[in-house]
Amino acid sequence: MTQITLVAGREKPVRNQHPWVFSGAIADIAGSPKPGDIVDVRSSTNEWLARGYYNPKSQIAVRLLTWRDEPIDGAWWQSHVQRAVAARSHRPQRGPRAAYRLINAENDYLPGLIVDRYGDWLVMQALTLGIDQRKVELAEHLARITHVRGVFERSDVDVRKLEGLRPSAGVLWGEAPPEHIEIQENARLLVDVRHGHKTGHYLDQAPNRGLLYTLIERIKPARVLNVFSYTGGFGVHAALAGAEVVNVDSSSDALALAKANFDLNQTEGELIEADAFSYLREAHEAGEQFDVVVLDPPKFAQNKQQVDKAARGYKDINLSAFRIVKPGGYLMTFSCSGAITEDLFQKIVFGALADAGRQAQILRHLGPGEDHPVALTFPEGAYLKGLLLRVY
Ligand code: SAH
Repeated sequence: MTQITLVAGREKPVRNQHPWVFSGAIADIAGSPKPGDIVDVRSSTNEWLARGYYNPKSQIAVRLLTWRDEPIDGAWWQSHVQRAVAARSHRPQRGPRAAYRLINAENDYLPGLIVDRYGDWLVMQALTLGIDQRKVELAEHLARITHVRGVFERSDVDVRKLEGLRPSAGVLWGEAPPEHIEIQENARLLVDVRHGHKTGHYLDQAPNRGLLYTLIERIKPARVLNVFSYTGGFGVHAALAGAEVVNVDSSSDALALAKANFDLNQTEGELIEADAFSYLREAHEAGEQFDVVVLDPPKFAQNKQQVDKAARGYKDINLSAFRIVKPGGYLMTFSCSGAITEDLFQKIVFGALADAGRQAQILRHLGPGEDHPVALTFPEGAYLKGLLLRVY
């Protein structure tokens, strides 16, 4: 097996079980590993440290799989997939409308592999070359242990370029999924796993949609503004709980499915196709007021270089949101940028509050559900953070 030796002083993250070895941390490669091959990683003093898969085209040249001297073979992959699946087996709903994340990549110690369950289908993202090479075998194993009807791939994402991979989507195993899969949260929701964002749905926000439902039940009658609504997940929950809801998104496709989702739940919501930044500013100028504003924007910072620009974007929308929340109302605000830490996000929201001249209390720190665990050794995994605020 190829032996990779690290530059002196670059061993610490590997010893701390961080799963990424950057190409700049590599001093020497003994052998000529092929892309995707399993390699050993050694310290500058030749001590064996870890084992992972290799990609010479990526800045993350090795993704580590184990820190024990064990073979990475079919049985290894199967047992690690099995462990991630078993960790979700307590979930109350396992029926045809169950929807949750089954494998959360690095955070489930399977770097580059995302698998979401939507009823009788699994949707997989192979984000790295090492996973791409093994995806059919992984899909077959997953299908065997979850008894689904099909495994569909949605690896049509930009990050694959960093791995030298082209987008890829389609059936990996079994039957093709229907156009829409109906899932159940506190509301019924249609998911377009073939064309929707990510694997079709923002599963990470499920507990927060449930929280909004409970909040509305408590405070109704309520007027809710759901900004960056996508297919209406938060909005349908609010409406079902008794609120009057305005949804704003720039994507007509997302809003078309949002309409179908309101209809499916026999409830209503206003749907506005607009740029959220402009909409929020204009709503303030028009003197609009809401009992609850939900802000769930897309990832503004793709990397650390974009943090400052992203911070200005977050501040802008949060400032506008504070201005249109009724005194005593609520703001549910999120960031899904991995490069924006929870601490920084709170500071940005604080800055917006100060500029708005309002007061706000943190009622809850928000994050994804337990099906999206974050490995303690991988802080990059904590991408979704949010705050539930009461605003005076
Ligand atoms: N809250 C949603 C997920 C939001 S994803 C849920 O629970 O399912 C982010 C959404 O923001 C996407 O639907 C995208 O179309 C939309 N979006 C991105 N940029 C936007 C902009 N400038 N104005 C309005 N919507 C935007």
